[in-house]
Amino acid sequence: MSVNLDNNATTRPAPEVVAVMTECLAEDWGNPSSAHRRGLSARRRVDLARDSVADLIGCSPNEVVFTSGGTEAGNLAVVGGFEQVRSSTPGRTIVACPSTEHPAIRDAVAECVRLGGERFELPVDSDGLVDLDHLERFLKERGDACALISVMWANNETGVIQPIETIGGLCREHGVLLHTDAVQWIGRMPCDFEHLPVDMLSCSAHKFHGPKGAGALVVRAGTRFAPRSLGGSQERERRGGTENVPAIAGFGKACELAGSWLATDAIEAMRSIRDDFERRLDSEIGPLIINGGNAPRLWNTSNIAIPGTSSQFMVVVLSEHGLATSGGSACASGSIEPSGVLLAMGVPDDVAGSSLRFSLARTSTREQVEQGIELIVDAARSARAS
Ligand code: PLP
Repeated sequence: MSVNLDNNATTRPAPEVVAVMTECLAEDWGNPSSAHRRGLSARRRVDLARDSVADLIGCSPNEVVFTSGGTEAGNLAVVGGFEQVRSSTPGRTIVACPSTEHPAIRDAVAECVRLGGERFELPVDSDGLVDLDHLERFLKERGDACALISVMWANNETGVIQPIETIGGLCREHGVLLHTDAVQWIGRMPCDFEHLPVDMLSCSAHKFHGPKGAGALVVRAGTRFAPRSLGGSQERERRGGTENVPAIAGFGKACELAGSWLATDAIEAMRSIRDDFERRLDSEIGPLIINGGNAPRLWNTSNIAIPGTSSQFMVVVLSEHGLATSGGSACASGSIEPSGVLLAMGVPDDVAGSSLRFSLARTSTREQVEQGIELIVDAARSARAS
């Protein structure tokens, strides 16, 4: 693959991340719970990484619970949060989220229903934004019966950014626990958890040049959830199991690098590359539809419907020509169904079926994107011709 425009699926680990992980595997292979020197050295790796994660997210190191990634963190927040609330307030049984959430959250809500909870779907508008009037009405009418709400900060398929501060303010007014799936946000956008009206936040290292299999659930001091992984006192009894030290150290390094990057004005430069990409495609093979295009979006994501093409055909042809892209979320690839996120936004089947997701990394260059444009234009023309 010479051009990677599929960075919402995963990103290439940074060389510094690979170096620290290799070092850990070779040298610091102790168990962080051991009292001897080797254990203490591994413990130091974990503590250092915890500080780096906390620095990037703007929380206290004690609020970081390391997990195996975004899926586990989201599961833990939703199911663990639901169980905790229900055990202290049995009348609160509703778990609410929009239908545009990642399967890690939707399936966790389904698990809450299996455990006796009730699901409530928060409606979204045609850009995928949560309908705030509806949310407010729901909280007024049923807030007392609501255990938890989960809303993704930035969508993995469209990049659409939810007004999480407003949603958090409404949840606070009604004493409802709020989790945000920030897997696509953290590492790409600044975060000040201390001042964010959110109780729990999940993130994942591999979305910003860290390793797969490492992530965190950030849990505000004073917020409790029922742990799901039992049998060890690790992570202050919030997630049992010997820590994956190399992955955690790599996660910490990825956070340091992301923090330095965010301290520059690189976001605006990247956004301009993405906007030019959309404009160029529109002028060559348009008119195109940008899904979620009227809402605030992450600087790195374009979800574009190219009329007269099929996303399945395009993904395969582009792959053959060296361009990595996606027809929806990676988890849904291989499926012939159009993206559930787009359908939930009211995008017609044929438009969803011709939509592709392009996602940049902070390492993407204008030259790579130009190369990508040429390949996409050629593929679209040949799809239309056939
Ligand atoms: N949430 C969102 C929004 C995602 O995009 C992903 C991964 O694609 C996940 C959760 C799952 O994260 P992980 O791959 O670390 O389990």
